[in-house]
Amino acid sequence: MIGDGAARVGDNGAMTGGGVRCGHCGTANRVPAAAAGTPRCGKCHQPLPWIADADDATFAEVAEAAKIPVIVDLWAPWCGPCRMVSPALEQLARDLAGKVKLVKVNVDTSPQISQRFGVQAIPTLLILRHGQVAARQTGAVPLATLRAWADNALAVG
Ligand SMILES: [Zn+2]
Repeated sequence: MIGDGAARVGDNGAMTGGGVRCGHCGTANRVPAAAAGTPRCGKCHQPLPWIADADDATFAEVAEAAKIPVIVDLWAPWCGPCRMVSPALEQLARDLAGKVKLVKVNVDTSPQISQRFGVQAIPTLLILRHGQVAARQTGAVPLATLRAWADNALAVG
């Protein structure tokens, strides 16, 4: 009874809304999973890293409706390589604050998203521009490789 719910505890509160520290002035800010613009620090107004969780129910709003490109991290809690790539993705989201949004999708609890993108191995990383897949990467890669991959995809068109 608690099993299924346990993985969801803190989805929005702890993971995304609980406070993102501004890389510029260090102020902790609350950042919504979805917003019309891009989140900025309430104190110094610099762009904040935007890292959100989404699932089958919220993917359209959180990922597809975003005005900036979205890196989608399709992962699962039991996946070792996912845990390796996760800090690199979060670093990338900090480095590209204001230019890209990182959206994490747990494939175990998001079967529709997993099926829609034909996910056969995780981590699978996607870059969405206006809801369309602009780039795709399967498997954990180092930060430098991720950065080059993202730069390339974000530069196109
Ligand atoms: Zn700030």
